[in-house]
Amino acid sequence: ATLLRLQGVSKVFANGVTALRDLGFEIRTGEFLSLVGPSGCGKSTALRLIAGIAKPTSGTVEWAGAEATDHRSEIGFVFQEPTLMPWANVADNVWLPLRLRGVSRRDAMKRIHESLALVGLDDFAEAYPRELSGGMKMRVSIARALSLRPRLLLMDEPFGALDEITRFRLNDDLLRLKRDLGCTVVFVTHSIYESAYLSTRILVMSPRPGRVIAEIPGAASAPRD
Ligand code: ADP
Ligand code: ADP
Repeated sequence: ATLLRLQGVSKVFANGVTALRDLGFEIRTGEFLSLVGPSGCGKSTALRLIAGIAKPTSGTVEWAGAEATDHRSEIGFVFQEPTLMPWANVADNVWLPLRLRGVSRRDAMKRIHESLALVGLDDFAEAYPRELSGGMKMRVSIARALSLRPRLLLMDEPFGALDEITRFRLNDDLLRLKRDLGCTVVFVTHSIYESAYLSTRILVMSPRPGRVIAEIPGAASAPRD
């Protein structure tokens, strides 16, 4: 089933840069979709449009069977950098999206610990970001994105800054997580290798202005419909 659909999407920035031109694809429920393409082809821009953080210049981004609900609460976003608040401990960092929705720390505790357990860091709830390795910080960032139990998890080149060993390990952790949670994932990377390993489906984008030029199956098993 289709979860979300982009049709004829273009994005022209105020400085005149056309990042995307006539981008169209569907996100299917339960899939692990990778967007691959050269640096600057508009992958991050496409994710921001999907997240509703930015609006297309033309074209549409629509949830399938969309009622006029706030879909942002259905979306978790993992950024390129872990962007943790250095003055807050791990639990408070994971609390942030819930806190922004008015959930008290007390009510959020169960959810915070569940999310940290998913990424194997339940014992680090009281630790501060500076005490963690790069890979652990990224896992906290993933736990934070999961704290709202999103239907759709968007990840923007999340492991790009990590060494290769950590990256491989996190790739496996992510596959396990995806299987356990059953959420839909859209993953941005410039690594064809990484996309092949992780995804059920890969969309290859052209250089800027980005549009889909090829679709290839990934090595991960496809979701059942
Ligand atoms: P990718 O994620 O594939 O590297 P981006 O989506 O970050 O590509 O950027 C696509 C193009 O749009 C790039 O040329 C980038 O410089 C430009 N761009 C991105 N954001 C902005 C912005 N806010 N204003 C102007 N140009 C931007
Ligand atoms: P990552 O691959 O996530 O960056 P590392 O293996 O680099 O993690 O971890 C850095 C240090 O933190 C190592 O000494 C490792 O034993 C420790 N560490 C990482 N994750 C955990 C965990 N879940 N529980 C206990 N220690 C951990």
